[in-house]
Amino acid sequence: MQLKDKVAYITGSASGIGQEIAILFAQEGAKIIIADLNKEAADATAAELKATGAQAIGVGVDVTNEDQVNASVEEGAAAFGGIDILISNAGIQIVHPVEEFSFADWKKMLAIHLDGAFLTTKACLKHMYAQGRGGSVIYMGSVHSKEASLLKAPYVTAKHGLIGLAKTVAKEGAKHGVRANVICPGFVRTPLVEKQIPEQAKTLGITEQEVIKNVMLKETVDGEFTTTEDVARVALLFAGFPTNALTGQSLVVSHGWFMQ
Ligand code: NAD
Repeated sequence: MQLKDKVAYITGSASGIGQEIAILFAQEGAKIIIADLNKEAADATAAELKATGAQAIGVGVDVTNEDQVNASVEEGAAAFGGIDILISNAGIQIVHPVEEFSFADWKKMLAIHLDGAFLTTKACLKHMYAQGRGGSVIYMGSVHSKEASLLKAPYVTAKHGLIGLAKTVAKEGAKHGVRANVICPGFVRTPLVEKQIPEQAKTLGITEQEVIKNVMLKETVDGEFTTTEDVARVALLFAGFPTNALTGQSLVVSHGWFMQ
């Protein structure tokens, strides 16, 4: 058990990648705070974890709302005795060409991906620093933290920005034993991606199969989607790493779509 008795606050963990990380971390002995906009789904995920013998609670939070973030972190910390791991993972996708992107949608994207990362980091660091037992902050970036794609200006901008935030938190957190890293997945077939397939087909004037083959997986080494399990394994590597040797890094897990 690599995470025995560690407390993990995971945003967007009622679905997709975040949920898979919650399942793996619970198997590794962590106590899990399922923090999601969808409180009902968060409670259901927490109940599934508890049914396996794990300790978990669901909390409702909009990561763009400072009061809600602070309240949900406090609730989780009070339930389990602090916070050791933050996975800042909640995210959405909106696709348009730049000249058609509404300012409101641009701001919504940056708020969820960047304000959400900042607010949850600030709230969790307070506990990690006070506890004096170190900690691990993990941001869900993307291959779009390194590369651009058509139609995704705010997503690409925000995901690049997370690398800057992680590097700064790595420097500031070092003296407290707090590490910060970014996971950069390729396409994973979660609800977030299922929604994009017909949208991109319509915008680009191609079939859904062509979107998968010629847009999403075109640059991979084997035409395969990355899986939620692949991403969860990388999260475990970062969360379980015992020293500051692995900090300020971004790791791409994408079937070779992006190589560095
Ligand atoms: P998903 O849609 O399956 O899950 C996202 C979760 O975030 C949902 O449970 C949703 O309720 C929650 N959420 C949305 N807005 C929120 C808010 N304001 N506050 C709190 N919770 C909120 O998506 P996913 O594919 O698992 O994506 C998770 C993360 O992984 C995102 O940051 C996404 O950008 C990133 N990512 C996904 C892929 C992919 O291909 N799926 C690739 C790279 C990176």
